Amino acid sequence: MEKCSIKRFIGRVLSFKGRDVIAGSVAIVGLIWSIVCYVILFSASNTEQLYTWRHYFPHNSMDPFTQTMHGLNSLRDSANDTEIAIKTTLDVSSTQATVTEGDSLTVIYILGESYNKHHASIYGYPLPTTPNFEREVKSGNLFVFNDAVNTENYTSFMEKNIFSLNSIGAGEHWFDYPSFATVFKHAGYDVWMWDMQRDFMTKRLYTITVNAYLYNDEMKKLSYTACNEKRYGYDGGLVTSFFREKTPGKYNLVILHFMGQHIAYFQRFPKSETVFTADDILRTDKYLNKNKKGIIAQYDNATRYNDAVMKQVFDHYRNKNAVLLYMSDHGEEIYDYRDYRGRQVSYKPTPGQLRNQNETPFLVWCSDAYKKSHPDIVKRLQSSLDRPFMTDIVGHTLLALGQVKTPYYKAEHDVTSPQFKPVKRKVYGHYYYEDIMSAEKK
Ligand SMILES: [Zn+2]
Repeated sequence: MEKCSIKRFIGRVLSFKGRDVIAGSVAIVGLIWSIVCYVILFSASNTEQLYTWRHYFPHNSMDPFTQTMHGLNSLRDSANDTEIAIKTTLDVSSTQATVTEGDSLTVIYILGESYNKHHASIYGYPLPTTPNFEREVKSGNLFVFNDAVNTENYTSFMEKNIFSLNSIGAGEHWFDYPSFATVFKHAGYDVWMWDMQRDFMTKRLYTITVNAYLYNDEMKKLSYTACNEKRYGYDGGLVTSFFREKTPGKYNLVILHFMGQHIAYFQRFPKSETVFTADDILRTDKYLNKNKKGIIAQYDNATRYNDAVMKQVFDHYRNKNAVLLYMSDHGEEIYDYRDYRGRQVSYKPTPGQLRNQNETPFLVWCSDAYKKSHPDIVKRLQSSLDRPFMTDIVGHTLLALGQVKTPYYKAEHDVTSPQFKPVKRKVYGHYYYEDIMSAEKK
């Protein structure tokens, strides 16, 4: 009996020590891991390095202290980026840039917001959300690209990389390349920057960092002829005000940055433009109730309103020599395949997340006059619609459409060029779109 108790006692001591050793080891490994994480975080000197760090520690995995440290570092690194970007912008003036177009020409660049292309009837959605786009395709004026992918799902990152003439696929940083707007202006274009999002959530970090780039004094002086001065309730108001207030010059680059289908979808279209209700959403997924179907209908109304605003733009330029490029900064999930709406990717994205958050519309519209004077470009557009590409390289296509000759133009990044070189599409810093989507098919 006594022998047995001693044995039990020894066993207990041993097992306690074992647990203690395991707990101690875990604590030491955790401590070392934390130190490594913070050292990497604090040593990041630009937002590209911070971006890589963040993909291993998504925002929702951070505790409040880490979030604060990340925020402070973002501000410091963003200031470093902007300093380099300003120098890059100033360098544009020492390069040669000309416009080869003889006639007057307007290039319209429209950056949409949170546009999931699978909610556009032009891409096969069952509800008629894009009747005007479809009409323009039928008349032969609109060219629909089928395989455009955004590398990320949040605005500020995409916006900087979209405006810059860098290529993420080629491993280039946005701040090392100028904005296409700066190059257009240097070549002799008037550049009109009408932006719904400049004054949206101005105290949030994402707006602060993107405005520090797009609207710093040097950028404004060297890149834009004028910017909008007012705020507007809806995208249609922005467009109407631009058409009413501005008299264009010979060569114009008109940049319209929309609110599109940004979250709080019901605020993105006037009530009078309501077309769809919950009853129009005929899906039978178990997780969908009437309220959720109503939210899907709101998103679809915002998409339909976007299409109506686009008609306003097409009609304005229909009888002029004009070419337009429309795309979105990223997509959005609206209960498409799971009980979730919004944008979120934790660690490794799934095919469903990529399909809805990263596959976006990419469209080029040509007026009849532009088609007539540029049959070569029309031919190139027709033969490039199925090419796989990432949308951050859009600036090179805009330079080609606007007939701007500049050393910054690279044909391999212009999706309409015969020299275009597709790259394996990197998403969220360290995954490849093709790998994730093809794994689903197996
Ligand atoms: Zn966005």
